[in-house]
Amino acid sequence: MNFLPTLTGSLSQPAADNPTVAIMEAAYAHHGLHYRYINMDVPPELLADAVRGAKAQGYVGFNCSLPHKVAIIEHLDGLAESARIIGAVNCAVKRNGRWIGENTDGKGFLHSLTPVVDPTRKHVVILGAGGAARAIAVELALAGATRVTIANRARERGQELADLVNGKTDAKASFIPWEGNLPLPADADVVVNATSIGLAPDWQARVPVQADSFPAHAVVADVIPNPPRTLFLGEAEARGCRILDGLGMLVNQAATNFAFWTGVEPDKDVMRRVLEQVFTA
Ligand code: NDP
Repeated sequence: MNFLPTLTGSLSQPAADNPTVAIMEAAYAHHGLHYRYINMDVPPELLADAVRGAKAQGYVGFNCSLPHKVAIIEHLDGLAESARIIGAVNCAVKRNGRWIGENTDGKGFLHSLTPVVDPTRKHVVILGAGGAARAIAVELALAGATRVTIANRARERGQELADLVNGKTDAKASFIPWEGNLPLPADADVVVNATSIGLAPDWQARVPVQADSFPAHAVVADVIPNPPRTLFLGEAEARGCRILDGLGMLVNQAATNFAFWTGVEPDKDVMRRVLEQVFTA
């Protein structure tokens, strides 16, 4: 018998409403892996102690969520390419004795997108310039998107993200200020709502875009995982667009972490079913 599980987990605050533990433990059980995922509520002033503790206890990896995604970097030994450019880490992985920071938010989005459309040589329009938008913009640019248009309400933040993509990737990025109902560029191949508009309980909040400007040929995605079926996606579908929900991004992000930590590609259907149950409970 082996009574010692391999440990993984999450450092965040608040932590109690973070559903990742439910997804990961279900997938570990499904694949017969003797792993555990521990949800830890860690205040900023104790982050260094928490990381030292995780290392001492033999963790092989952990997620870090708000407010630690940037502060964690100084406690790691190195960063993967997209995490370095994005400047934020949501997944730490122990590789050959070194702690490497990854950003799997953008990877999760990319993995949910590619079965529907390959972003290579595509024009991607991203609504928002916060953490999720940053991760998606950088990851799609690294994956070969040639144009990235950022629309954001706060100009400075939007321009900063466009500058980052222009400076650190081969994609050509531009910023458009977002005031009132935004007309979407007619040549957009992929449109992503990467704002927090529409997240439960404010699911009735509308993303201010011109409803008749969704290009019918485009794939339209939302980062909002709850509810998965947002008003934004409903409007896009009514215009004939193919749609991708935020639950898919969340599942693919968790699946990427799982594969990093275990070396096993998880069954994503198991993960998605657990999330659907969590969000309808
Ligand atoms: P941030 O707070 O970093 O960014 C929020 C973004 O939304 C900003 O660009 C902000 O614009 C914009 N925004 C918010 N309210 C409005 C509004 N009323 N009108 C116009 N723009 C608005 O949040 P994150 O980027 O970390 O998260 C965004 C969303 O992504 C969250 O809902 C989160 O749940 C989701 N998410 C989903 C993931 C998944 O796997 N599905 C993973 C990570 C995040 P401004 O700069 O002008 O304030």
